[in-house]
Amino acid sequence: MTDPETLSVTIVDGYVDEPAHFGVPPYISTYPRYTAGALVDAGVARERITYHTIDRLRDEPDYWRDVDEADLLIYLGGMTVPGKYVGGTPAEPDEVRKLAWTATGTSLMGGPVKFGVGDENAGATETERQDLDFDFVAKGDVEAAVHDLVESGLEGFNNRMRDVDEVSRWAQDGAFIVEQHPNHPAYLIAELETSRGCAYRCSFCTEPLYGNPTFRPPPSVVSEVDALSNCGVKHFRIGRQADILAYGGDGEAPNPDALRQLYSGIREVAPDLETLHLDNMNPITIVNWPEKSREGIRIIAEHNTAGDTAAFGLESADPVVQEENNLNVSAEECFEAVKIVNEEAGWRPGGPNDPRSSESERVPAASAGEDPADAPTFGDDTPRRLPKLLPGINLLHGLKGEREETYERNREFLQRVYDEGYMLRRINIRQVMAFDGTDMSDTGAEIANEHKKLFKRYKRQVREEIDQPMLERVAPPGTVLPNIHLEYHQDGKTFGRQLGTYPLLVGIPGERELEETIDVAVVDHGYRSVTGVPYPLDLNDASMDELTAIPGVGNRTAGDIVVNRPYDSVADAELETEFDLAQFMTTRTFEPAD
Ligand code: SF4
Repeated sequence: MTDPETLSVTIVDGYVDEPAHFGVPPYISTYPRYTAGALVDAGVARERITYHTIDRLRDEPDYWRDVDEADLLIYLGGMTVPGKYVGGTPAEPDEVRKLAWTATGTSLMGGPVKFGVGDENAGATETERQDLDFDFVAKGDVEAAVHDLVESGLEGFNNRMRDVDEVSRWAQDGAFIVEQHPNHPAYLIAELETSRGCAYRCSFCTEPLYGNPTFRPPPSVVSEVDALSNCGVKHFRIGRQADILAYGGDGEAPNPDALRQLYSGIREVAPDLETLHLDNMNPITIVNWPEKSREGIRIIAEHNTAGDTAAFGLESADPVVQEENNLNVSAEECFEAVKIVNEEAGWRPGGPNDPRSSESERVPAASAGEDPADAPTFGDDTPRRLPKLLPGINLLHGLKGEREETYERNREFLQRVYDEGYMLRRINIRQVMAFDGTDMSDTGAEIANEHKKLFKRYKRQVREEIDQPMLERVAPPGTVLPNIHLEYHQDGKTFGRQLGTYPLLVGIPGERELEETIDVAVVDHGYRSVTGVPYPLDLNDASMDELTAIPGVGNRTAGDIVVNRPYDSVADAELETEFDLAQFMTTRTFEPAD
C-alpha cells in the first residue's frame, strides 16, 4: 500500500480544446487545477506535486526527469474541436506515448482524450479512442479517478464522475498549481467552470456526453476565484459551460439572480482582476426567454471587462442542415439574438458619462459621452474602446445534409447582420471532427472532405467581404486596446494580443521586445487582425514605420514630422491629416541623442 503522503506526482498538461472548455496557453483549463486539488484531498503533499506543460518539456528536456521519476504520472489532454494556436502546441499522440514509456511509476491518462485521438488536431478528421500505452485511462472524470487511485494505494479505480461538493473542494485546493505554469502570473488566464452538459443534442458535439446540465452554485465558483486570485491570477474567463445565460436555472431558462450572484461575487473577491470574460451563450435561450435574457446580458455587461464575446453556435443557416443535425437555432432566431446582445451590451466603456467604467478604462472619447441605451455604438462619435459584449458566430461545415446552397445561406446571414447595423466580434468557421458517441460518427468526415474546395473559397469570401468591414466597425481607427502582450516577430512587425476571449491579433510596426505589455491604438484593419501603434504615440519619438502606419500619413508627412522635431504639443505640429491624430498622440520632453 503506497502512503499518499510520500507519493511524488507529475502532472503533464498536453492542453485541451472542447466545445465548451479551453486550455491552450495563455489559458489554463480546469483539469490540472482540479486534479491537483483531488491529489491534495487524497493526502498527497502539495510540495510533491509537479506540473509541466508539454511545451515546457519540449523546451527544457531536463524536466523529463520529473516524468521518469514520479511515482504517479498523470497526462491531461485532448482536442475535440479543431484549431490552430499561437500560445502553445498541443501534444501529439507520439509525444503522449513517449510520456507513458518514460514513466517508471504508475501512469494515468485523462481529460477529453477519452473521447478519441485524431492523427492531428484538424477539421475534417475522424478519431478513435486509444490508450497510448498508459496503465490507466480515466473514462469518467480524471480528477475523480486520480483521487480514488491514490486512495486505493495505486491499485485501481472505478470510472465515475465527481459530485458538486468534490469539485468545490478540489477547485479551491488545487488553485496553487497555477504558480507552476510557465505563463504565471502575468500572461495566464484561468478558464472557469460553471456547468457541464447540455440540454440539446447537436449531432457533432461532445458536450451532451456529459448529460443534461449540472451547475456549480455561485459560492463554489466564487471561492475558487478567491483562491486563484490569492495565487496571483488576474485574468478569468467563464468559459466552461454550454450556455452562460442558462446558469443556475432549470437547464434551459435563464436565472438572472444566479448570474448576479456569480458575477458580483467574483468582483467582490477579486476586485483587482484585469479580465473577466465569458464563452458560449446559446441564442435559443435569448429567443425563448427574451426579457430574462436581456436582464442577464445587462448583468454580464455591468460586471465584465470590455471586449467580451458571447459565442453563438449557429453552426448553419441552412434549414436542411439544421433539421438533419438536430441544431437548435434557426438563422432568423439567431439574428434576433444578435440584435438583443447588441442592444443590451454593444455599448463602449470610457465615455465621461459612463458610471460603470473604472478609471483605468476611461479614455478620451471622440464624443461627449455615451449611453448604454443607445447601443450598439459605432461610427465617428463613439468612445474609442471595444464594446462591452458582442456576439460571435460559430459556423460548422461538413455536417449532414450540407449542400452548395448552405454556403450561400451562411454568407447571406452574415451580410444581413452587417447591413442592418449590428456588430459581431468574431466569425469562426470550421470543418467538423467526427467523434465516437456523437451522431456524426456514421457520416464521419466524408462531406467535409468532398466540400474542401468550396469551403476554402467561401471562407476567403467571408474574410474579405464581411470580416474586414465588421472589424472596422467594431474597432475603428483610434480604438485603444490596453495591455497587449507581445508574442512574436514576423516580417519586421511585432504581434501580440490582449488576454481574453478570442482576443484580436495586433501587428505593431517594428521589432519590439517580446513578452512585454503595451497599450496600443488601432490604425488599420486586416481580415481578422489589426495594425496598431503604441498608445499614446509620442510625436517626438515615434518611428517612421509607426507614423506611416497611421491612415493618411505617407512617407512625406512622416518625414516632415521627424525633421521638424521637437514639438511642445500635438497641435504644434500642425498636421493636416484626414484622421484626428490628437486622439492618441502625445508629446513628451524631447531629449536629443548625444
Ligand atoms: S447547444 Fe448543441 S453545440 Fe451547443 S453545447 Fe449543446 S449540444 Fe453542443
